[in-house]
Amino acid sequence: MRNEIYLDNSATTMLCKEALNKTVDVLENHYGNPSSLHKKGFEAEKIVLEAKKNIAAGLGCETDEIIFTSGATEANNLAVIGIANALKRRGNKIITTAIEHPSVLEAMKKLEQQGFEVCYVTPNKNGEITKEDILKLVDENTLLISMMLVNNETGLLLPVFDIAKSAKEVNPNVKIHIDAVQGFLKIPFKINKTQVDLLTISGHKIYAPKGIGVLYIKKGTRLLPQIFGGGQQNGIRPGTEPTALIAGLGAAVLANMQLIDDNFKKFLFLKEYFLDELSNIEQIKINSTDKCVPYIINISVGQIRSEVLLHFLEQLNIFVSSGSACSKGKKSHVLTAMGLENNRIDSAIRISFSNKTTTQELKTLVDALKLALTTLHTSA
Ligand code: PMP
Repeated sequence: MRNEIYLDNSATTMLCKEALNKTVDVLENHYGNPSSLHKKGFEAEKIVLEAKKNIAAGLGCETDEIIFTSGATEANNLAVIGIANALKRRGNKIITTAIEHPSVLEAMKKLEQQGFEVCYVTPNKNGEITKEDILKLVDENTLLISMMLVNNETGLLLPVFDIAKSAKEVNPNVKIHIDAVQGFLKIPFKINKTQVDLLTISGHKIYAPKGIGVLYIKKGTRLLPQIFGGGQQNGIRPGTEPTALIAGLGAAVLANMQLIDDNFKKFLFLKEYFLDELSNIEQIKINSTDKCVPYIINISVGQIRSEVLLHFLEQLNIFVSSGSACSKGKKSHVLTAMGLENNRIDSAIRISFSNKTTTQELKTLVDALKLALTTLHTSA
């Protein structure tokens, strides 16, 4: 089955064996509702707790600081809107960046309509978001800073933990939310060693099923729920817990948290190999910088439109993304915020690795890119 070269792991990953087996086992055999008072309910509740322990170990937090959501989109909405509305009497200003995922940016738009002042920090001329650029905006009116750990389109690594620490020195009341979707289990951190109050992760980016995410909420952080129902998860996010998805996520975290360092070294090696191979091809421009993580690489290929190239590669069983999978057909707001020329934005593709990616696969991609450059019309 696997003649495929799947290099779109920032869009979603294949399930790891551990997550797949666990999810299927729970679906098949442990179908109780964790809120039920009988044995089947108790069994399901135990499965949720076991998963929480694994996720808490991976994050470096307590089990009761974990709230399950349907994914990162919901977790980001809950964090941003839930905090803003809980704390609106403390201040009116929110700081974020122009390169956040739409699940943060669209939530910010809603808050602006409610009357909050939202500041969007744009990347500097090197394509970076610096601590100084964020800190100069923090004042006593600031109630929230929401930033991503790793940008999903370019792989830019933001100094979020450093920013969190410094921002709290300026205003100890400011809440910090991190969208860690593209960094969790790849960039080592333990949340209890940071000043972060809220942090989002998504199952399907870390070899677990789709439809499950987590919002870490530091003990004592008040936030208003965004949906209302039966009181599960302390009423912060009611609804029957999807036990099989939760169990799958727990299994994925357990299986992969010991591999972070080894995988990172592998990603560094792969990136170096790939960039080295690309350096011979004049028409290819690298949009990711050395401040970017090694497992997401954004490049522009000649004047070939992203979608054209994507489908060309697809015919060769190679799967990449044009910019971000979430913004189908739209011009990338991230590359635009970085100030890249239109030509370069229109011809950008994203290659993202998994822990199964090989140099052979990258070699095949490079050959395919060379072929594309000699055969495709340039229309960007
Ligand atoms: N944040 C980032 C940085 C992402 O890359 C994504 C997924 N593309 C999301 C949030 C949304 O995640 P989900 O698909 O779990 O809603």
